[in-house]
Amino acid sequence: MVSVGILALQGDFAEHRFMMEPLGAQVYLVKHGSQLASLDALIIPGGESTTIARLTSSAGDSLLEAVRMKASEGLPVYGTCMGAIFLAREIEGSSQGRLALMDIKVRRNAFGPQRFSREQMLNIPSLGSEPFPAIFIRGPVILNVWGNVEVLSAVEEGIVMARQDNLLVSAFHPELTGDSRVHRYFLEMVRQRKQMCAASRWAGDVEAGSRRH
Ligand code: GLN
Repeated sequence: MVSVGILALQGDFAEHRFMMEPLGAQVYLVKHGSQLASLDALIIPGGESTTIARLTSSAGDSLLEAVRMKASEGLPVYGTCMGAIFLAREIEGSSQGRLALMDIKVRRNAFGPQRFSREQMLNIPSLGSEPFPAIFIRGPVILNVWGNVEVLSAVEEGIVMARQDNLLVSAFHPELTGDSRVHRYFLEMVRQRKQMCAASRWAGDVEAGSRRH
């Protein structure tokens, strides 16, 4: 079974849980860096990025460093909306705290204030030909990508879904829909990584075994 942590300091972590559990994942609500050691993946939910920055910047908080370390080792991390902002290397016009892990530059609140929140059918080829019902709530857009970032979907305002190796972001909220394809896509990333880790452990055991003989 795959164990998925959901950062539960603030925001709509409960909705991600309700999406993930029926897909067969064991879900853990994460509040401390030490919890990451035993997890196969992490979701950073939607919420308010300035609040999460403040909550994680308190002296002695190991959470940011733990996420950075595990992500650099290949832990799959999925950020929705606020989570995408928190993962970005650059935030337009802002020095607010962030993980700065993914090679993207974001613009916050790119669709305007709350009253411009909307649902829009999105074309996401990696999920198949059926359009995805994307819910935008004061969401960001991705203005620039670099490195090996793969753009998975875009609208008129900019890029709204992207992936870089083990990092996945969306500017919208799939956890608020009845469509689980984005969560299943992420779980597939997690399963592939789990298999790779098991295979390399197995290869290591074989090598150690052959050295013993
Ligand atoms: N507007 C919020 C921010 O900039 C993000 C909103 C959301 O996660 N739905 O942090």
